[in-house]
Formats: sequence, C-alpha cells, structure tokens
Amino acid sequence: MRIKFWGVRGSTPTPQPDNLRYGGNTSCVEVRLGENRYIFDCGTGLRALGQQLQRDSEGKAIRAHIFVSHFHWDHIQGIPFFGPLYENPENCFSFHSSSRTRTLKRVMEEQMAAPYFPVDMSEMKAQRGFYNLEQGRVPLDDVMVEAMWLNHPQGCMGYRLETKEGVVVYATDNEPGDPVFDKNVRKLAAGADVLIYDAQYLPEEYEARKRGWGHSHWREAINVVVESGAKELILFHHDPDHDDACIDRVVADARNYYPKVQAAAEGLEIKL
Ligand SMILES: [Zn+2]
Ligand SMILES: [Zn+2]
Repeated sequence: MRIKFWGVRGSTPTPQPDNLRYGGNTSCVEVRLGENRYIFDCGTGLRALGQQLQRDSEGKAIRAHIFVSHFHWDHIQGIPFFGPLYENPENCFSFHSSSRTRTLKRVMEEQMAAPYFPVDMSEMKAQRGFYNLEQGRVPLDDVMVEAMWLNHPQGCMGYRLETKEGVVVYATDNEPGDPVFDKNVRKLAAGADVLIYDAQYLPEEYEARKRGWGHSHWREAINVVVESGAKELILFHHDPDHDDACIDRVVADARNYYPKVQAAAEGLEIKL
C-alpha cells in the first residue's frame, strides 16, 4: 500500500512562498493498493493527481474510488480540474459520499453551473457512478471501508480503509469536545497503521477564538493517536495562516508527546 499526499491545506489554497515546503493545495490523499486506487477528497490537490494518473496510464483506462468527506469548497474545488474526467470514455470513477445534505452529483452540477464555470458536466466523458455512503461498514473490491460522522458544521465523514496490507484512517475537519464524535473518531482510528487527522489550529488559537469552527489542533491529535492505539500520526488540513516555520514548530512540539508524528506535505509518500 502506498499513501501519497497531493493537497494538505485547509480552508483555501495558499500558493505563497513561505507555505510551499508543506504545500498550498487543499485536501487530496491517494491510496494505491495493487491496481486499485482510493482517493480521499477533491481539493485543489486533485488536479496534479489527475496529471500523474494520465502520465501513468499510457492511454489505458483510469479507475478509482473517490471518497468526498463533505462539500465545503476546500474538499471539492479540484473536481472541475481533474483531467481524467474529461478524456477517455473508458475511465471510470466511483464517487462515495453521504447524501444527507445533498447528493455529490448535484453538488458537482451546481459548482459547474453558469455563471460560476465555463463548461458543465456534460463535457465529462468518463464513466461516473455516485454511491451513497452513510455511517457504517461496506466492502469494496477486496477492502473494507468504514465511514463515521465527525463534528463539523454541516457534517463531515471520516473514513477507515482496512486492507490486507494495513489500515489507513482519513479523519479531517473534526472539532473535539462532543462525546459522541470524540468516540467516533477514536473508534475509527483504533489500531490503525496510519491516522491522518485534522490539526488545523494551534491549541492556543483554538482556545482563544476558534471554538465552534469545526476543527482540531495538534494536541488533540496526540490525544486521539494515543487513546486509539493508532501507530503513526499525520497532522493534516494545515491552517492557511500557518507557514512552513510554524508547522515545523508544531511537529517539534508534538514529538515531545508522541514520537511517530509528522505533518502532511505535498508529495509525501508512506509505504505500508
Ligand atoms: Zn476542510
Ligand atoms: Zn469543512
């Protein structure tokens, strides 16, 4: 199994020089398992992933399961710029998301509607399937996917991917402090090999002015990894106002509490 980070930023893209070591693109993580691909969220990082998939495919069909945690801009903004959707009619994408607030198909149609975007979904030649994935466990190919609600305005789904090569958990956009959701995220992360978790704020920023905004901080990320027994922690969804130096300090501070922690960075790969 190979996990690769294509977008790690929260809220909005930040392509400015002092952010570029960790990266300015919004949420997108690729998991490759043999020939199968699983993509978590469609932030602006999805565009470069699409280019890589096209290079790797050498004209052959591209297939992937794509999980969309929720429909805030930073998790869907890459969809209209995902090249493989437009070209080969043999390409096939299965989108999985909760339709509690809307279906993803409707979200995509609305996001590409005039006057917000110059082409509409009819330009997309690839095969697209839209699947409703609510809280629970479902088998897909030869993996098991578990989805659980997290604590976020309008809701956000966390995902656990169980495979024969290891377990990876993608849980971003989650605010601590609600007993139900705190339990959900620990259950999702239980014993995972890799936990990718929302660490948008500094603990002091959260306490001072970010309560109720739907995000976590690195100190809570440490609590989750320790209490769930997950092995490796990846701090994710970096705040737009946190530059590379700030994230370096976060990682150094976090390692005083748990040794196996790093911050997600564009291009980072983890092999299991
Ligand atoms: Zn977000
Ligand atoms: Zn969000």
